[in-house]
Amino acid sequence: MNADDVKKLTKDLGADLVGIASAKTLNAFPPDPLWPQTPENILPSCKSVIVVVQHIPVAPFRAKSNIAVQYIDMLVLRRMDRIAYKIADHLEREGHPSFVTAAQETDWNMKNASYGYLSTRHLGIEAGLGTLGLEVNILTPEFGPRLYLTGILTELELEADAPMTEQVCIGESCSRCLHGCPTDAVRHYGIDKRNCAVEAQEFGFMTATAFFMKYCLASHEEKRELIKSRDVFGFWQGLLRVVGSFGDCPRCLAVCPVGNDYHAYLADFQKVIPEKTPEKVTKAKGFKQARKDGDEISGLDEWNIRWVGPDGYQGIVARQMQEFKKMQKTKAEETS
Ligand code: SF4
Ligand code: SF4
Repeated sequence: MNADDVKKLTKDLGADLVGIASAKTLNAFPPDPLWPQTPENILPSCKSVIVVVQHIPVAPFRAKSNIAVQYIDMLVLRRMDRIAYKIADHLEREGHPSFVTAAQETDWNMKNASYGYLSTRHLGIEAGLGTLGLEVNILTPEFGPRLYLTGILTELELEADAPMTEQVCIGESCSRCLHGCPTDAVRHYGIDKRNCAVEAQEFGFMTATAFFMKYCLASHEEKRELIKSRDVFGFWQGLLRVVGSFGDCPRCLAVCPVGNDYHAYLADFQKVIPEKTPEKVTKAKGFKQARKDGDEISGLDEWNIRWVGPDGYQGIVARQMQEFKKMQKTKAEETS
């Protein structure tokens, strides 16, 4: 099988996007060289990583509460993993050892935090599928950040795709993700993971350890009350269907104006950002000025610019929106 065969099979199985990254490149460019998330640390004989993308349907981002996105996320992940498993299985039957990476699992030894064995965002970028946004999600031109990715590690050498050099994220002049973030976790092409976890992992690891600390020190009477608390219900529900444990906050995904799904169904609905404050606007202006002045910005330094898009923003979103409007006009004319 060559790269085209693999991509055709992946699309035929129902994946939305697919790209191929070279293991050699991924080994040479770990997102953080101090904590290398590389294929060679998992499978030294890995030659290529096939990256599979499944988009999150847009309707839940129009719902009144976050519950709709949280539940659909779980279904999208299961579907994506099933497709990736079938590809790996097919390759192995053809004589090329291959397996799906544990995309949502994290390694406690990596910075004592939620860092995976591989960074799926960076896999996607190296496979030519998009670039990092201000909130360091991967943004694809097709679906913005509203997607999940996984990688198949294979010993088959496949022709790799070229990474995009044009920045997909509109950048500091947009900053909608920063305005929409309820815990002000968005940095300048970076993220405050702890702040993000407050909303994104409401009943995640940090909440669980804080709860059990409190429980251990509580009196007998207090323990009786604590055991009936909302936190315990949240942990139970998290065990049951993962909701509450991760990916709980969809705000930076919902408000990002990249992708035809946004132009079609979210532009009106998400136009006003209720979480926007004068302080956040000032923060975004500061980011814009810092970039203009050429200040040192770690998210945009010599190492990291590779994943943000070294050629900078050149209007990809505006171009796409014009195309989309033209397409809609033609459709309307055809049906009238
Ligand atoms: S997931 Fe929510 S809390 Fe985390 S950065 Fe995005 S908007 Fe902020
Ligand atoms: S909301 Fe704007 S600034 Fe944030 S990632 Fe999307 S395009 Fe970039």
